[in-house]
Amino acid sequence: MAASTYKTVVLAKRPKDNVIPGETFRLISTNAAPSADSLKDGEILFQPNYLSIDPAMRGWLNDTRSYVPPVKIGEVMRGYAVGVVLASKDPKFPKGSYAQGTVGWTELKVCKGKELEKIELPREARLTDALSVLGMTGLTAYFGITDVGKVKAGDFVVVSGAAGATGSVVGQIAKLKGATVLGIAGSDDKCRWLTEELGFDGALNYKDKEFGKKFRAATKDLIDVYFDNVGGEILDMALSRAKAHARFVMCGGISQYNTSNPQGPKNYLMIVSMRIRMEGFIVFDYAKEYPRALKDLAQWLSEGKIKRKETIVKGGLEKAEYALRDLYDGVNTGKLMVEIKPLDEK
Ligand code: NDP
Repeated sequence: MAASTYKTVVLAKRPKDNVIPGETFRLISTNAAPSADSLKDGEILFQPNYLSIDPAMRGWLNDTRSYVPPVKIGEVMRGYAVGVVLASKDPKFPKGSYAQGTVGWTELKVCKGKELEKIELPREARLTDALSVLGMTGLTAYFGITDVGKVKAGDFVVVSGAAGATGSVVGQIAKLKGATVLGIAGSDDKCRWLTEELGFDGALNYKDKEFGKKFRAATKDLIDVYFDNVGGEILDMALSRAKAHARFVMCGGISQYNTSNPQGPKNYLMIVSMRIRMEGFIVFDYAKEYPRALKDLAQWLSEGKIKRKETIVKGGLEKAEYALRDLYDGVNTGKLMVEIKPLDEK
């Protein structure tokens, strides 16, 4: 049975830099949680169990033009979650089945069928995979490296944010396609995970004092494909090491998300001299092609050709603002998510 009260998190104040727990968001506790009895025809009572924490969330808090409208002050924070149908008056979503959707930062939600998607997990998969390798970050990695980056055998691929949810899958797909892969990540432990467990050919810690020197040495043969998750100085360094006709896949720029004055690349003239194709993309552009990507990703996962890690912050919805803040300090290896409610606690 659903609890009689439930919590949501709303945007209280637009942050200048990183989010500030206790200031940026407000936790609201509401009496009279929706129940199975109150459902109308076509409605579903959805229990989000795991909430995705995404770098893009920081951008949604700015009052600027982007690919989605900003979250309004007082509005429930936008967020994507996977969970369980607690009760249903929509035959497509039977009670007890798994579903996912952009339900916001909430402990409970009455949804219409069009707000949710059913989750059918392939062999070897778990529910949280629908937030990572079989969800948005896996799809981003897939379309970014194959369709935008057009990776092929023999390419030298460099990926930043390599130990995160997207970057770790990018590198593994590139390896499956026959490329040589160098990952850039924020700790020695993350670098070891990339090379020892995921099969990257090399990995460098960008916080290492000698990073610049090591990066130049590791890219002496010059870069065919650079997959950018972070922007900033690392993007500049990659530009300086681009091969003629290199492809730069512009997926994100997390180093610039917490500033009101984001900096573009200083080495941009390399785009001209090296005839670089630099292309931004948003994964939703590929929505019609998700089935093709999910088939490949599910197969690679079940065959052990793609490995994944997740960092699950426990303690409920209250922890979401801390998790979002800590994402920018690299608290996660693989996909970062918050456990709103453990799966077995219905
Ligand atoms: P990740 O799991 O990669 O988490 C973010 C990681 O970024 C952190 O773990 C941290 O690891 C690293 N990081 C944080 N701050 C910095 C910094 N200043 N410089 C370098 N690295 C930093 O997140 P996602 O996989 O969800 O997202 C990765 C990127 O992909 C983001 O830029 C995101 O916006 C983008 N994205 C784009 C989409 C699209 O459609 N274009 C869709 C989904 C995501 P570390 O310890 O290595 O610093």
